[in-house]
Amino acid sequence: MAASDQIHDVVIVGAGPAGIGVAAALRRIGVQPTLIDRTGIGASFTAWPESMRLISPSFTSNQFGLVDLNAVTPNTSPALSLLEQHPTGVQYAQYLRMVADLEGLRVRRGITVRDVCPDGGNLLVEADFQAALRARTVVWAAGEAGDPRRNGFPGAERCVPTIAVRQWDQHPGGEVVVVGGFESGIDAAVNLVARGRRVTVLDHHQPWATVDPDPSRTLSPYTRSRLREATATGHLDLVGDVHVAAVNAQAPGYEVLTDDGRSWRSEGPPLLATGFEGSLRQVAHRFVWDADGLVEVTEQADESTLTPGLFLAGPMLSHRGASFCFIYKFRQRFGVVARAIGQRLGIDTSPLEALRAPGFLLDDLSCCEDCAC
Ligand SMILES: Cc1cc2nc3c(=O)[nH]c(=O)nc-3n(C[C@H](O)[C@H](O)[C@H](O)COP(=O)(O)OP(=O)(O)OC[C@H]3O[C@@H](n4cnc5c(N)ncnc54)[C@H](O)[C@@H]3O)c2cc1C
Repeated sequence: MAASDQIHDVVIVGAGPAGIGVAAALRRIGVQPTLIDRTGIGASFTAWPESMRLISPSFTSNQFGLVDLNAVTPNTSPALSLLEQHPTGVQYAQYLRMVADLEGLRVRRGITVRDVCPDGGNLLVEADFQAALRARTVVWAAGEAGDPRRNGFPGAERCVPTIAVRQWDQHPGGEVVVVGGFESGIDAAVNLVARGRRVTVLDHHQPWATVDPDPSRTLSPYTRSRLREATATGHLDLVGDVHVAAVNAQAPGYEVLTDDGRSWRSEGPPLLATGFEGSLRQVAHRFVWDADGLVEVTEQADESTLTPGLFLAGPMLSHRGASFCFIYKFRQRFGVVARAIGQRLGIDTSPLEALRAPGFLLDDLSCCEDCAC
């Protein structure tokens, strides 16, 4: 389909916390980005199971120089807006809509981007069923939660991703096997146990037994306290160091086989909590990837090292071995991306310095080397 003639200064793909946060930073230097989303603001959050909540706590600490961990701008607080410590997905999306309103952001919904192509010094944002947008710069902020991984073992397609279950009461069967024992898997397990179900969680490792200062590598305190309650019922089995080899349909129910020859029965479809493919898959060829499968971006600006003008924001970011996968981590780079874009557009970026003290303009990454986040 033909491209439109208008050249946008900035197109941001994705209106989740990363897209809204970078857009708000750009507003500080007078840039009005074109935000597009295939569904709408906070769509990944509104798709969460109804009982799921943010594991990172919100607190009304902004006035004391400690910005609410889940805030995407320095002067807003989900705790204050929602009066919740652990907002549900629907509540958090409400907070994001509030920020978008406050910042005067306009979001074009119903546009699914499939590629971002270099185009004679600009970029072409190609979308389904619609003319491509021309842009000087593009921020890829399409997240990683939209697409659960379903290809880990034969029969994975018979399982249901935990993220796809709206209400736990509606998941069929009495005994249920959950594959994957990190945050999403344990969240599913504790919710099912609270509804009187027997649950077995299988995992390659033993995430419930691992303690690490980096919250990306260990269960949150919020999850651990719920896990203690669920374990005390005697209805939860946690089985670690086990590899699921296959899931077979075996009426009435399913058989989950592990590669050491053991098997478990699941009366309802087993639940999958084995991670996400991530939206970057779509534009993977616009970035360089390292040997560990991590995407490479510049330290100065989180810009693709392969496609100039294409920036990355959100949980897929990592620098010097440190993962930026929580909102309070990746928001530290909003100011850095906005500053690089502003400089590219020849705009005075000095107003962005106000983002440094509250932690939204982290440009010295030496702290990543011994990060204990
Ligand atoms: C179960 C679970 C619990 C979590 N709990 C926490 C927590 O407590 N604290 C925390 O900090 N983080 C948490 N996270 C991580 C957090 O959800 C993500 O870090 C956050 O959603 C990332 O924000 P984002 O804006 O990059 O992506 P998203 O929130 O996923 O937003 C991406 C947006 O892009 C849109 N989009 C995707 N593809 C396209 C496309 N091709 N074209 C157009 N639009 C597109 C989507 O509709 C969506 O609105 C959790 C994640 C999960 C899965």
